[in-house]
Amino acid sequence: MKSRYFPYSDFLNATLGARPSYAWRSILHGRELLVQGLVKNIGNGKSFKVWIDAWLEDGLMRPPWRRNNYFNPDLRISELIDRDKRDWDEEALEYHFLPADIIRIKKIKPVVETLSSNQTTREEANRLPSLNPVKAQVWDLQTDPKIKVFLWKILSGALPVATALISRGMRTDNLCQICGEEDESINHVLFTCSWARQVWALSGIPSPVEGFQNETVQKSCEDWKEWAEAQVVEEEDENGGSSDDQPRRVSQNCGTDHLLKRWKRPPKEWLKCNVGVSWSSRNRLAGASWVLRDYEGNVVLHSRCALVSVMDKKDAQFKALIWAIESMKSHRVEKVVFGLEDACLVKVLAKPSVWPSFRFQSMEVGRLRGSFRDWKFFLENSFSNRGAFFIAQSVTSDCRLQSYVDRGHPSWLRGLFAEEMVSSSV
Ligand SMILES: [Zn+2]
Repeated sequence: MKSRYFPYSDFLNATLGARPSYAWRSILHGRELLVQGLVKNIGNGKSFKVWIDAWLEDGLMRPPWRRNNYFNPDLRISELIDRDKRDWDEEALEYHFLPADIIRIKKIKPVVETLSSNQTTREEANRLPSLNPVKAQVWDLQTDPKIKVFLWKILSGALPVATALISRGMRTDNLCQICGEEDESINHVLFTCSWARQVWALSGIPSPVEGFQNETVQKSCEDWKEWAEAQVVEEEDENGGSSDDQPRRVSQNCGTDHLLKRWKRPPKEWLKCNVGVSWSSRNRLAGASWVLRDYEGNVVLHSRCALVSVMDKKDAQFKALIWAIESMKSHRVEKVVFGLEDACLVKVLAKPSVWPSFRFQSMEVGRLRGSFRDWKFFLENSFSNRGAFFIAQSVTSDCRLQSYVDRGHPSWLRGLFAEEMVSSSV
């Protein structure tokens, strides 16, 4: 099995491959649970003895190697965790372990408990929106019965998509038959599939912001709430806390106006750089693009590049951002707003101290701060960022691998950018 599916890596890093057998797919499914189990097992580390328990993954599970001759056999994993930083204590790791093991340890995220953690989880669970009222509304719609049934099936998770079939024991491919991404879910088919995104974009109906990135409709509601909060942070920063018109802006963001969220121009003397990302799980290929516009909405420059060996979508988004920042630096752009679709990344960059587990990302970005007079990060939605996304998508869907920078916009997107220039002026 190793020679066929992961000749050059280990079991935990093996990929699905081109023609996976049913058995191999089942094993990989089991592996996901195993990995979750591994992480959970360490938990807060109080019950684990560092030198005795096998808690490091290195082909097999084993205890770490000792760096020092003298050691305390009762040392607990919990003593290696820095509670304030909510992460591993770097100094302790360097003192006790060899560099190769430190890398392995850092792959595990320690759980740091706070007193109220149980309570918060329960409160969050209570706040989760129930879908029942929405389902009830479906039957009152003035439309064809067929469409009502279809909507009800969507909300009830009753469409025969691959993930649903597989969970009921059917032997079928879990790849989306259109774009080839793994895990064809209802949410994927309707919203996140590249084909669906194009249909939404071309329909002119603004697609709900950020809500369509996750697996369930319920999760989408949560994501939207998070997104709304992130927008409030952004507005505060922009206004420098001016109190008179702030409440109005906040309430706008929480209302239905988010559906009309269109592309926004940067302030005068600033340029805006929209970063587009498209990622394919089939060949670990990512397309990245940026579109640079002035405060009147004119496209000054745009660029595209292909990124290889990108492990996941998050990684793609981060690498694309670094590439875009470096491009802005080399074009000597002084004041720039980066428009990104990754809500998490925008939050990390706005308040790095609150997100210690993303320290690597915030430090990598922070390193480039000195190249600019000023910069900002703005959360775009899939509608307002669609121009950049389409350029990035040409890498993954049409396999256009050559990179380039060009003046203006691509001619095939003339209509789209002209429309955004007009709609952003009102
Ligand atoms: Zn798809």
